[in-house]
Amino acid sequence: MLSVTVTRTLHSQRFGQDSAIFVAPGRVNLIGEHTDYAEGFVMPAAIDFATLAAICPDDTSVAIYSANFDDQITYPLDSLPGKASHHWSDYPLGVVSVLREAGVEIPGFSLTLNGDVPLGAGLSSSASVEVASMVAILSLTSATFTPPEVAKLCQRAENHFVGASTGIMDQFIACCGAEDHALLLDCRSLEYRLAPIPPHLSIVIANSMVKHSHAGGEYNIRRSEVEEGTKLLRSHRPEIKMLRDATVDDLKRWGHEMRPEVLKRCRHIITENERTVAAADALQAGDLKTLGQLMYAAHASYRDDFEASCPEADILVDLAAKETGCIGARLTGGGFGGCTVNLVENAQAEAFSSHLREGYREATGIAADIYLCHASAGAHQI
Ligand code: ADP
Ligand code: MG
Repeated sequence: MLSVTVTRTLHSQRFGQDSAIFVAPGRVNLIGEHTDYAEGFVMPAAIDFATLAAICPDDTSVAIYSANFDDQITYPLDSLPGKASHHWSDYPLGVVSVLREAGVEIPGFSLTLNGDVPLGAGLSSSASVEVASMVAILSLTSATFTPPEVAKLCQRAENHFVGASTGIMDQFIACCGAEDHALLLDCRSLEYRLAPIPPHLSIVIANSMVKHSHAGGEYNIRRSEVEEGTKLLRSHRPEIKMLRDATVDDLKRWGHEMRPEVLKRCRHIITENERTVAAADALQAGDLKTLGQLMYAAHASYRDDFEASCPEADILVDLAAKETGCIGARLTGGGFGGCTVNLVENAQAEAFSSHLREGYREATGIAADIYLCHASAGAHQI
């Protein structure tokens, strides 16, 4: 468990000063995959794995220590690096850089980062580091940004400074998440609404521990197939700017003009948008049966139409579906490996996890990492 006391002590031992402490969570996407760049809907939840940022002012320098890497960087305030160096510090330094670009005067500071979001597991440790760093640094300034504005600035840090082209979801949920709620985000307008996750449910995340190496290439192919399908539909109905604007009826009318794989990719995104909004409605109505059906349908669509699942993820979802107390399960994240997300009754969550671990090891020989989580609040001071 991530300890505020330990973080505070690490900071004061190293920097000789008391600190203010901020937290920003990791996240899991419950439903809505590859809908973000179609300007559609996603529905993530913030999880109770998070990054803590302890901060105190300094006169002339910027010092950042990561407890996870047991490594510190220090720069004079007036000569901070202007570009990334493929180092963990790119994330907090990117945050400083975008804040300066936004006209915020940054004072010297010492910052300690300490997180328990598993790195690179698809739970967005990067966004949690960016958002925790940003809210901590902002506390030393007179600037005021709303949580969605902080999210956009942090996305900018990741896109422009770190150099990773990510959507807005990770930073948005790290800023705007709420305890015991999922968040339905409209990736076009950035309007959002919270949908309650009943307190008797756990979010169980199972890491398949595989990431197939063709993922990057396949991702680019999917993007261009989606673009091709969007263009075709737009040629018939110019209001279709993105697949977000298209319907299943459009596909019925003009889908036969598409290459078969293009039709399938478009069908995934169009139906996934519908499922994601329907899933938020189901949560709102407390209709867990419908929610579960939507999650399984989303997985099937991801597997069969988008063809971005993999045998390991399919095994995890099939095993989950057989367990009592499992409401729904699906592959989450960019695809071709990574994690599945499962909604499971609290009372069954431990048994579910061990059955999943055993079944997966039997089927694949791989030891999955399994995380039991609950939906948590967005970034705040502790
Ligand atoms: P993900 O966001 O899925 O966890 P990324 O590759 O996007 O994976 O981000 C992981 C990177 O974020 C790490 O390699 C590291 O550079 C940075 N990072 C995450 N957590 C910390 C931390 N506690 N301290 C310093 N850097 C961190
Ligand atoms: Mg990341």
